[in-house]
Amino acid sequence: MALEVTDAIGRNADPLAESPEQLELRAMIRSVIEAAAPVDRTLELDDREEFDEVLHKRLAELGIMSIGAPESDGGMGDIREQATVVEELAAGPTSMAINMVVHYMGVEVFSSHGSPAHKAQWLGRLLSGDAKFSFALSEPGAGTDIARGMRTSARNVDGSWVINGQKTWISGATHADVFLVVARTAPIQRSAVEGVTMFVMPADTPGISVRELPTVAVHGLSTCEVFFDNVTVPESAVMGEVHQGFRMLFGTLNRERINAAAGSIGAARGALEYAVNYANERQAFGRSIGAFQAVQHRLVDGALAIESARGLVARAAAVEAAGGRADILSSMAKVAASEAAVKVTTDGMEILGGAGFSREIPMQRWFRDVRLWVFAPLANDMVRNNLGTTLLGLPKAF
Ligand SMILES: Cc1cc2nc3c(=O)[nH]c(=O)nc-3n(C[C@H](O)[C@H](O)[C@H](O)COP(=O)(O)OP(=O)(O)OC[C@H]3O[C@@H](n4cnc5c(N)ncnc54)[C@H](O)[C@@H]3O)c2cc1C
Repeated sequence: MALEVTDAIGRNADPLAESPEQLELRAMIRSVIEAAAPVDRTLELDDREEFDEVLHKRLAELGIMSIGAPESDGGMGDIREQATVVEELAAGPTSMAINMVVHYMGVEVFSSHGSPAHKAQWLGRLLSGDAKFSFALSEPGAGTDIARGMRTSARNVDGSWVINGQKTWISGATHADVFLVVARTAPIQRSAVEGVTMFVMPADTPGISVRELPTVAVHGLSTCEVFFDNVTVPESAVMGEVHQGFRMLFGTLNRERINAAAGSIGAARGALEYAVNYANERQAFGRSIGAFQAVQHRLVDGALAIESARGLVARAAAVEAAGGRADILSSMAKVAASEAAVKVTTDGMEILGGAGFSREIPMQRWFRDVRLWVFAPLANDMVRNNLGTTLLGLPKAF
């Protein structure tokens, strides 16, 4: 059965078909999942709300953590391969895909803006999988409006920076070795985007404390509050330029959106595949339920939504890899893919009927997990606001 258009029309005829290397990578991730993270194990860990250290170690051994870093820093591949990894993982252990979105963001930030000392201390360990990364931006009083609402501050005192405040919804903070913390270093004047600085610090720096939050989904990766109480770090903890942290993050955020879109596609694909198989097998009124138009149309619409988003992701990743500006395409990809994933998993729950309620079947996990990408890393409403201005030239909506 061809669930992807590329398979149906033939890879040679598809201008967006993946390279042989990407296909090889995809096959490798699939076999790792089969061996290390089969469905039952993933569901069990999800129930126990546990990070899959075994899978993480296996991915690290295969060099997956180093994708996207320059070869000179010990990396290989680019955003296209990152997206392949994230998509494949999301079709299985989705929490690990989310972990990789965060990890690849760390790889990008350290590679692009890290000082030689940051790279020496952390980048090698991140690329080998020996160290884990968390990105601390969102706050209790500010998510979408983070630039204006940020309250976490850093003051320069006798050549050191003293950080106070609170971050929230931070992925993987319980197991992180290193944090990238974004803090306000100057009051807002002309633009809220100015006066914000990025800081690198070991997760066990005195004054940092972490509390895991109870969440409805992404149970294989912790989601946490992180508190900063007079956390004192040296001048060398500044990543990039003082006061310019936001501007420096913009390129990284495009890539994060591409990877979030790839994850949405992966989870949607996993759910669609499951629903199609189920619809073929489940019998009612003497035929398979997949023979009923109401069911079939929903499945076809799901495939259509996935393929539309997949095209945007492939274009956005190709533009980024070629050094172009993918802000519009990555934004469109993120909205299209996350909404495709919500649609496919919602329909999937309905097509499975009572079976959809079983925690022994992965549909409910995909259904819960993909909700994240509708509002993270940036809410689709806000992405639409940005597209209204950047793509359509409409007045700024916020
Ligand atoms: C599981 C999980 C993991 C996360 N991981 C991380 C992480 O690792 N690091 C990190 O820094 N953050 C992380 N986040 C936070 C995430 O990035 C934010 O939740 C997201 O940016 C949205 O912010 P908010 O939740 O404060 O929503 P709000 O900003 O309060 O938005 C609420 C609603 O208002 C709408 N809205 C707001 N402003 C506008 C506007 N101008 N126009 C139209 N609609 C608007 C939004 O679309 C949304 O529907 C994570 C969140 C979760 C749940």
